[in-house]
Amino acid sequence: MPIKKPKKIHPEPGDKVEVVMANKKETGILIESHEKGILLLKLANGYNIGINKEDIIEVKILEKSQKDEAKEDFKSSGQKPLIDIIITGGTISSKLDPKTGGVKSLIEPSEFFKTYPEIFNIADIRIISPFMKFSENMTPDDWIRIARLVAKSLKDKNVKGVVLTHGTDTLHYTSAALSFMLGKLNKPVILTYSQRSSDRGSSDSRMNLICSSYAALSDIAEVMLVGHASSNDDYCYALLGTKVRKMHTSRRDAFRPINTKPIAKIWADGKIDIISEYNKREKREVNLDNVFDKRVALIKFYPGQDPNILNYYLKKGCKAVVIEMTGLGHVSTEGKNNFLPILKNVIKKGMMVYAVSQTIYGRLDPYVYESARKILDSGVVYLEDILAETAYVKLGWVIAHKEWRGTVATPVKMLENVAGEFNKRLDEGFIN
Ligand code: GLU
Repeated sequence: MPIKKPKKIHPEPGDKVEVVMANKKETGILIESHEKGILLLKLANGYNIGINKEDIIEVKILEKSQKDEAKEDFKSSGQKPLIDIIITGGTISSKLDPKTGGVKSLIEPSEFFKTYPEIFNIADIRIISPFMKFSENMTPDDWIRIARLVAKSLKDKNVKGVVLTHGTDTLHYTSAALSFMLGKLNKPVILTYSQRSSDRGSSDSRMNLICSSYAALSDIAEVMLVGHASSNDDYCYALLGTKVRKMHTSRRDAFRPINTKPIAKIWADGKIDIISEYNKREKREVNLDNVFDKRVALIKFYPGQDPNILNYYLKKGCKAVVIEMTGLGHVSTEGKNNFLPILKNVIKKGMMVYAVSQTIYGRLDPYVYESARKILDSGVVYLEDILAETAYVKLGWVIAHKEWRGTVATPVKMLENVAGEFNKRLDEGFIN
């Protein structure tokens, strides 16, 4: 009988391969190439390289790609504490598309379990998946929906804590929205993310999820963002939801506390070192207040800007705006671009105008320069050391309550420290 030759297995997109050339080797994930004669490889550092097929001596398959599998139901062990994980999209829910070499939006909830099996050792997990989006596509309606889901989980007595996974770009808007909409918490609410997808060697997703799970079981009943504290894989920071911002496009420690200190260091082995005061886990009813009035805007001032931008928003029906001013709180007050007459006009017509600083760090002070005093006198309200994004979210939430709107003269709620958005004890020069 003739001996059957073993079937030759050809490498396919998604396989991890070693490409052997005459004088070097490259290891990476094979990507579908649309150029005949070129083999495309995604390297561990995230870059794609094209290799001329004529230069290749051999392609060795190191690991076959795992094909997408069907939905799978999760069953809790019933032995461990329960964490609800609400997944909404972003890189943490994405993986490499072997066809294009780009990160594509994932995934079925069951796939999330398969991607991150480690968290099962820490807790029983229930996955809730309202939608899958990259976070630049989120809207205030999504914040309202997420807040409702989180509140539902917090009210469930079997749930120890909630983790929300989310794209990084607008994560700090959502953390601010949850901070205002959920009020005083009974349990931890953690927002987490990843800057590099799970199939990359340098992915931050695993450690961020592990630390988030420990944070969700802790007694810190705050809305907090948990993620890499540095570029090492040793511990994460837990950062207050109203005083945190994405400060880097690609670093794994992109989120920094602004004008405040972290709440805690959370180590990947579960150890928690507390740094700042926090509200403790407590038996209390969560008071969901998930409203947002969209008639608000966030405007950035820049040299040469036409102040009529404010009239534009007034005509559009805007009730209130936040302006990111320069330094201690300035916009142009002379020449063709003088903001003062326009500010006076829109404020007279009932639009509220709030100032924040585009320096990000530090506190506004309209009493240093005469020009800022004039802006103050025109009726602009200066919002201390609040972040621009937090101020915008708070404004939409505040003016959705008729009784809180106040007037230009008495913007009470916007100046109240509702969710730690102001830090009175901010030291001069404090920077993280
Ligand atoms: N723009 C995407 C987002 O914010 C990037 C993915 C990510 O950062 O998770 O969702």
